[in-house]
Amino acid sequence: MTAALVLKPGKDKSLRRRHPWIYATAVARIDGDPAAGETVEVRAADGEWVAWAAYSTSSSYRGRAWSFNSADHIDGSWLEARVRAAVARRAALGEASSAVRLVFGESDRLPGLVVDRYGEQLVTQFHSSGVDRWRAELVAALVSVTGCANVFDRSDASTRQREGLPALGGVLAGSEPPSQIEVQEHGLKFLVDVRRGHKTGFYIDQRENRWLARELAQRFAHEQGRAPRGLNCFCYTGGFSIALLAGGAASVHSIDSSAEALRLAGWHLRVNGLDGRNANWEEADVFEALRALSGRGEQFDIIVLDPPKFATSQHHLERASRAYKDINLHALKLLAPGGYLLTFSCSGAVGADLFQKIVAGAVIDAGVDAWLLQRLAAGSDHPLMMTVPESEYLKGLLLKRV
Ligand code: SAH
Repeated sequence: MTAALVLKPGKDKSLRRRHPWIYATAVARIDGDPAAGETVEVRAADGEWVAWAAYSTSSSYRGRAWSFNSADHIDGSWLEARVRAAVARRAALGEASSAVRLVFGESDRLPGLVVDRYGEQLVTQFHSSGVDRWRAELVAALVSVTGCANVFDRSDASTRQREGLPALGGVLAGSEPPSQIEVQEHGLKFLVDVRRGHKTGFYIDQRENRWLARELAQRFAHEQGRAPRGLNCFCYTGGFSIALLAGGAASVHSIDSSAEALRLAGWHLRVNGLDGRNANWEEADVFEALRALSGRGEQFDIIVLDPPKFATSQHHLERASRAYKDINLHALKLLAPGGYLLTFSCSGAVGADLFQKIVAGAVIDAGVDAWLLQRLAAGSDHPLMMTVPESEYLKGLLLKRV
């Protein structure tokens, strides 16, 4: 008999709104003895069927819903259909890149699963007991649906640990990936180290914003009659720097604390045939580097701020807000009149409204005026699921200084 999670009175509300997470605190009792990842039925306090879910033994979650349709039968072919639908959606987008997110967890109704494609290489993250239980079936489905034979895993060990899952990683299908995979994005080349790079190797989610940076460099030159000076903070392997240079920036100063990321950034100049004399890379802490640049009276025309996740949960909101305020304030002081600021937050806990308020506070304190020209988000291969607001993690603002 299928095991069941019986919820406390009223705790079926979020599932009825088709939000898939079942917190441990919402569960009144467990009928049966399900193993991690096993499919269970979820029942309201009055016994009414609510969802099929994958059971989880982790401390904060007891499960994640697969489906709100009682007629569904969760098995390999059901999962393959979801994978097929996710991949088909990306094919229809026709992304101008060979680096594409094929499966984006909750947004593709496969909670906890991330799959990125770099050319012919797939890179996975299995972050929930449910997708982990069906790992072999999911890998087989991915290979058959995409035709890519090579699947490498980059699941985050700490996330898996929180979920009570053993560490994973390495080749799940096919052969070892090369040390660097070359991908094309809007005509630019980037090298991705899927073994050691951040996330699955590359910040695929910023594709359209890198393209925007390139366009802004051209727009600025058109408006001001001179090529812009760029500043790229938290540059990682230089994605935005390369985009700005390709757009004709006169110079780009890039800052990151990771020497390894900066090494790859240097390569990106070469593979894109860009003039290395216009680029300089600083291995430093951005908080300190911005103050030093200010102290030297430097000015820039296009500034990118793409920091790591400052708020990992609601508990860190205050500290994170101060950090966002600090870097935005100092960046705005460095921004020349007529210049553009592209500023981002990838903290799911910092909502779009809060982020805009923080940046507005920085504008006020910097004593400058600025227009908000555009709100920015991850590319369309990272769709926001309306029923799961947490899927909107990356948000950005494009400001122009008056
Ligand atoms: N914009 C990049 C992605 C940025 S990820 C792209 O498009 O590819 C965030 C980066 O911030 C990482 O490379 C990390 O090494 C760097 N970082 C984190 N904290 C930092 C700090 N205090 N100072 C400088 N760099 C930092």
